[in-house]
Amino acid sequence: MTIEHAVMQMHRKPWGSTDLLPWAAAPANGDAIGELWFERADAAAPKSALLLKLLFTAEPLSIQVHPDDDFARSIGLPNGKTEAWYILSAKPGAQVAVGLKHPLSSAELRASIEGGSIADKVQWRSVNNGDVILIPAGTIHAVGAGIVLAEIQQQSDATFRLFDYGRQRELHVDHAVAVAKTGPAESQLPPHKLTEARTALVVSPHFVLEQFDLPVNSIWTLDAPEETWVLVIGGHARIGLTNASLGDAIFVAADRAGIETGDEGITGLLAYLGPNVNSSALEQQSNIGTITGPVSACAPSTQTASEHLPPFAEQEAQT
Ligand SMILES: [Zn+2]
Repeated sequence: MTIEHAVMQMHRKPWGSTDLLPWAAAPANGDAIGELWFERADAAAPKSALLLKLLFTAEPLSIQVHPDDDFARSIGLPNGKTEAWYILSAKPGAQVAVGLKHPLSSAELRASIEGGSIADKVQWRSVNNGDVILIPAGTIHAVGAGIVLAEIQQQSDATFRLFDYGRQRELHVDHAVAVAKTGPAESQLPPHKLTEARTALVVSPHFVLEQFDLPVNSIWTLDAPEETWVLVIGGHARIGLTNASLGDAIFVAADRAGIETGDEGITGLLAYLGPNVNSSALEQQSNIGTITGPVSACAPSTQTASEHLPPFAEQEAQT
């Protein structure tokens, strides 16, 4: 039975950005932050199976690939990594790479990693706000510069680098060749409406990613039989006992949380364990206006329910 406001943890990256607004304030020391991880508020709590992050790219990430569960276990890791991206903002012309332009043999892939020509062999495409990209394990991929995205992934840091733009970090040629699919990416099912308020963005064996848009002054129940992450990307609402607004993440597990939207409604991402859509994940109760008795409609959140956040994270969460 868990409903908690997640804490943010910043991770420096050589490709990161010093401009994290409106999601967070960058550290005063000017460090480039590549990733903001949302973590369970109680550091002693069991690790979640899914990891929710925001990524900020001032330069391109490495070209990389992740193993599937079988390969990960064969080298002593608990599981592999399938991930999905939701583009929150993209500068004009910003691109991601997914899969290869043309099929290669394993020997050709190895040669193109060792010689650096892999950067010309991946399939780049432009992205816009709201685009959703699924990266199944084994898909060679990269995120270009000028992008802010939300990522949901299996909890894993198994990354094999194929190309790093001269940044001198280690490449993992053998593992990359062993796990990479050496051709164009599989096509991805388009988003589809589940209800007026819910859109399934990704339905995969490992997780389901939805977007929800709840209208102004409405009351809902979030049903989370298994671990479920909510990320607010617009508007605000009271979720459980927490006032949640842009950039806030809520973790719910084996519990039900009431959601009361305010005068802007709320837009968010909902991620939970796959492989099936939870058809009762979000159900409308009634409109606030039709209820008699006291109702605590959500006020614009000056207080972001940050009681549980450490001082550093609290300062970030309120910007
Ligand atoms: Zn990746």
